[in-house]
Amino acid sequence: MSATERRDHIRDMLADLKLPGALEAVDEILAEVDRGSLHASQAIEQLLTAQISLRNNHRLRTAMRSSRLPAIKTLQEFDFSFQPSIRREQIESLHELAFIKRQENVIFLGPPGVGKTHLAISLAIAAAESGRRVYYGTLVSLIESLEAARAAGQLSRRLRVLGHPALLIVDEIGYLPLSRDGAVLFFQLINHRYEHASTVLTSNKGFEEWGTILGDEVMAAALIDRLMHHCHVVNIRGNSYRMREHADLGLRTGPDSPTSESVLRRKKKETPAH
Ligand code: ADP
Ligand code: MG
Repeated sequence: MSATERRDHIRDMLADLKLPGALEAVDEILAEVDRGSLHASQAIEQLLTAQISLRNNHRLRTAMRSSRLPAIKTLQEFDFSFQPSIRREQIESLHELAFIKRQENVIFLGPPGVGKTHLAISLAIAAAESGRRVYYGTLVSLIESLEAARAAGQLSRRLRVLGHPALLIVDEIGYLPLSRDGAVLFFQLINHRYEHASTVLTSNKGFEEWGTILGDEVMAAALIDRLMHHCHVVNIRGNSYRMREHADLGLRTGPDSPTSESVLRRKKKETPAH
């Protein structure tokens, strides 16, 4: 078989196996082998990488249609040097997704703008690329959907649907207080997923304030008990990334200092916008 015939044969086989990513990359890879700039093992690696990256893109596009993720945020885009309170190894190891296999939860805690939603989404994206089903909602929107389902007599069906994804993000716990009814629905949702599928939660409030958010200390304690049973807590203490151009404001966030956003609001009042 001549070299040209062998190439055609390889292309035919890739098409037959339905490997369009590898098919598209194969000519360039073989040309590099001919030029002596790639070893055989590197060529095979690149061919497989091309196919896997096409497959992951496809999975991600599909997930973006059904998961309600508000944006694409990846781990690569996350600047760890901006947020030194985060342990990089912990975040990287979470992105290997063993926690999903073990049905464990992840909770990101910290003031506004420190990257909680970014990291929650990047975990969901990694999970989607690995072929898992993911779903995103703010706590308020998830509760609204449960309330609507209940009004239509479909609460248990909706809970079942929200029980399905291997990873559910419950974003923005604590920005708005819940009604008693909303708190019960939140509890039911977490109960439904407990030890069965992973939930990633974000909150700007420490656990000691969840009683106030839920309007019920006993229910908050029971909820936290379930969430924490198998859980990775990422406590982020730092400045808002949204405000990084305003470093001159001397922003500081923490329990005893105003959040960066309230500082900005005040600063804006003092000095008219430029
Ligand atoms: P939070 O949910 O904690 O309020 P976000 O995750 O929404 O904050 O972050 C606010 C914005 O800043 C987003 O656009 C996010 O992508 C970006 N961001 C936050 N932290 C970082 C970081 N360390 N590196 C890169 N982008 C960041
Ligand atoms: Mg957020």
